[in-house]
Amino acid sequence: MIRHVAIVGAGFSGTLQAINLLRHGGPRATLIERAARPGLGLAYGAAHPSHVLNVRAANMSAFPDAPDHFVRWLEARGTPDAAGAFVPRLTYGTYLRELLDAARAQAGDRLDIVQGDAVDIVEDGAVAVRLDDGREVAADAAVLAVGNLPPHAPPGLDPDDLSPERYKGDPWEPSVGEGLGDADTVLVIGTGLTMVDVVLMLDARGFAGRIVAISRRGLAPHRHAAAQPWDKLAEKPAASGAKLVRSVRARAEAIGWRNAVDELRPFTQALWAQAGQDDRARFLRHLRPWWDVHRHRLAPQVADRLAALRASGRLTIVAGKTLGFTEDEDGVTVRYRPRGADAADTMLVQRIVNCTGPQGDLLRTSEPLLRTLAQRGAIRPDPEHLGLDVTTAGQVVRADGSASERLFALGPMTRGAFWEIVAVPDIRRQTWDVARRLSNAHWVGGEGL
Ligand SMILES: Cc1cc2nc3c(=O)[nH]c(=O)nc-3n(C[C@H](O)[C@H](O)[C@H](O)COP(=O)(O)OP(=O)(O)OC[C@H]3O[C@@H](n4cnc5c(N)ncnc54)[C@H](O)[C@@H]3O)c2cc1C
Repeated sequence: MIRHVAIVGAGFSGTLQAINLLRHGGPRATLIERAARPGLGLAYGAAHPSHVLNVRAANMSAFPDAPDHFVRWLEARGTPDAAGAFVPRLTYGTYLRELLDAARAQAGDRLDIVQGDAVDIVEDGAVAVRLDDGREVAADAAVLAVGNLPPHAPPGLDPDDLSPERYKGDPWEPSVGEGLGDADTVLVIGTGLTMVDVVLMLDARGFAGRIVAISRRGLAPHRHAAAQPWDKLAEKPAASGAKLVRSVRARAEAIGWRNAVDELRPFTQALWAQAGQDDRARFLRHLRPWWDVHRHRLAPQVADRLAALRASGRLTIVAGKTLGFTEDEDGVTVRYRPRGADAADTMLVQRIVNCTGPQGDLLRTSEPLLRTLAQRGAIRPDPEHLGLDVTTAGQVVRADGSASERLFALGPMTRGAFWEIVAVPDIRRQTWDVARRLSNAHWVGGEGL
């Protein structure tokens, strides 16, 4: 019988896990979070006021059974016609904090919040979560909601060779935009959504120098556009692999690429689950960069600002691969090979920001908790090394292939099983499902959805 669940990480996934356990009248919960402010996580805690959600408010409710919850919350606070709006991420953080505060006020001693860094979880009939200062939280089950792993160093770059002033390995660190002059050039490595965040933050701080963003293909996220009604797919496409790509292209011709990508959304997890390892590997190798920039789009106001910065020459996006970095008193000389070129080129920059995105391979992580669990065989990477191996019920799979009955995982680290498990609309459903399971509510009636 599970009476007490310890949840490691209080970002969106962990916070909603605790709230959903309480909503289902399930076990008592302890949320363990290393950051000073629980309830925000990386996306909504480290945001700058210039950062807005990349999903319309209508799709950002925290609850799958109350899809207009966030819109109602916004409208009650004076945002008219909020459904189609792309609101600041800090506002979404306030929403999550209020939900957590309300849950805490109602829960009494059924919800505990512990500030601390979990470094191990021992499973032995029950679970014990060990913190780095020696404290221990004993529970009947534990949920890993630790978010993404930090990025790898970019190709050709050894962080130890560059001074901390020049190289920022963590794009969310407050010092990323500090101490720059208008004659400086910032190199952003990576051209996805994290690059967009860093560019907007530099721009909002008044940085008037040049920004160069580089990635192998130089692909940047596309913009959202107002959706036109269309006849959506009624069921999962029968095709997979190359046939699926052809059928999506044909649908894009007929209904526009945004609709062709969006109509796959209800089926993406099932398509991923049925794909063989070869298909998954081919997708990751060849299609992923294109999928990412079409699927994870920019709010129109963000896309407009980025276009203006590119048009004025302040932002340049380069397709190429970095090869080496040499620092002297003027800055860092970066050697890189432009895509398709035989010869390398160089550029002098005064700051480098790593926006290559999260690493997935937990065998290469230096995060103490996951490293310790992996070394002991309590967790293992999924076959594509995107994160943790889990069952569709969220149970972690051990190195010997057995599924744990007491250790669960949520959020982006479960990408290997679900692929489409990064944004709020997918994670809110996952936290709901796992909470129902841990509350034994999944046996009762329907899903209530
Ligand atoms: C910059 C950014 C912007 C995004 N914007 C959107 C958006 O607009 N719309 C959308 O739908 N989705 C968005 N997402 C995606 C999605 O909302 C996030 O991926 C989601 O919030 C993931 O939450 P999480 O709780 O799983 O992870 P995180 O938010 O990373 O939270 C994990 C938490 O665990 C804590 N933690 C980790 N390890 C330990 C440990 N050992 N001990 C204690 N605490 C630990 C961390 O401190 C952190 O607070 C965005 C993601 C990012 C990164």
